[in-house]
Amino acid sequence: MNKNAKIYVAGHRGMVGSAILRRLDTGGYSNVVTRTRTELDLTQQAKVAEFMAAERPDYIFMAAAKVGGIHANDVYRAEFLYQNLMVEANITHAAWQAGVNRMLFLGSSCIYPRDCPQPISEEYLLTGPLEQTNEPYAIAKIAGVKLCESYNRQYGTKYLNAMPTNLYGPNDNYDLSKSHVLPALIRKAHEAKIRGDATYEVWGSGKPMREFLYVDDMADACVFLMEHEEIEEGLFNVGTGQDVTIRELAETVMDVVGFNGKIVFDSSKPDGTPRKLLNVERLRKLGWQARTKLRDGIKLAYSDFLLKNSEAQA
Ligand code: GDP
Repeated sequence: MNKNAKIYVAGHRGMVGSAILRRLDTGGYSNVVTRTRTELDLTQQAKVAEFMAAERPDYIFMAAAKVGGIHANDVYRAEFLYQNLMVEANITHAAWQAGVNRMLFLGSSCIYPRDCPQPISEEYLLTGPLEQTNEPYAIAKIAGVKLCESYNRQYGTKYLNAMPTNLYGPNDNYDLSKSHVLPALIRKAHEAKIRGDATYEVWGSGKPMREFLYVDDMADACVFLMEHEEIEEGLFNVGTGQDVTIRELAETVMDVVGFNGKIVFDSSKPDGTPRKLLNVERLRKLGWQARTKLRDGIKLAYSDFLLKNSEAQA
């Protein structure tokens, strides 16, 4: 990637998109194009085509998506399927039409079969049934993978797919009904500490295992992949290669936040998939590895949470 190349980051206000902006900035990339949701509604095909034809970016980081935790995915099933399909189809097609040859499309580790062998290799895609709580989102993201693959095959583009594990960090969503587990636990532990509660509530059994990647590491992997122009296609898992139980996670969060209460498990809430640890060998062999340790990342995320919280109250 030339430092003056025109780079469009779709979804730049989201957790991943904003981390990619930070990484492009420190990497010396000076020609970055963004549009807010009010400026450009990515579900509108004609508007996306018009924007792409006018801007003709050299590179696209496709980080725009409707995302959420286990509850939101399960409840807003139609929205997750419809909006993600529309946005990715509009962007991919308009990009190709405007002559954009290189794009990085962001997916998710939930595209892999629910009960597939661990750690999950890229080859396991479409080898078994999906987890039910987030099937609509996963189907949309699988379509995104197939869009890239098919445009590459038919039209010779060089679109890549990055599949992150559970991400967390600055600009995460702390709304308890929509968020993923880590931001939810940070908020719950913090509020329990402030209120002086004796307990805090964790959904499910605490037994499922999850892998967590700090979002700035994810952004670094995205730029790394785009910069390696010899990589012309394919799926790349991005994670740390290590997972923890939800109980262990809840304990680490309590420790970082400084809340000394007791965990109460709410078994009326779903556990979701039992485990989803990514096999990250493909990216490691190319020379990329995650840097941020979980505890350090949680400290950084908690600082960001406190900052946003005090700004909101000011
Ligand atoms: P998933 O990785 O797609 O299942 O999505 P989440 O990050 O939302 O949930 C991961 C696991 O954490 C599931 O087993 C949840 O039941 C569990 N969990 C425990 N407490 C919470 C919470 O407060 N919010 C969320 N979203 N998940 C929680």
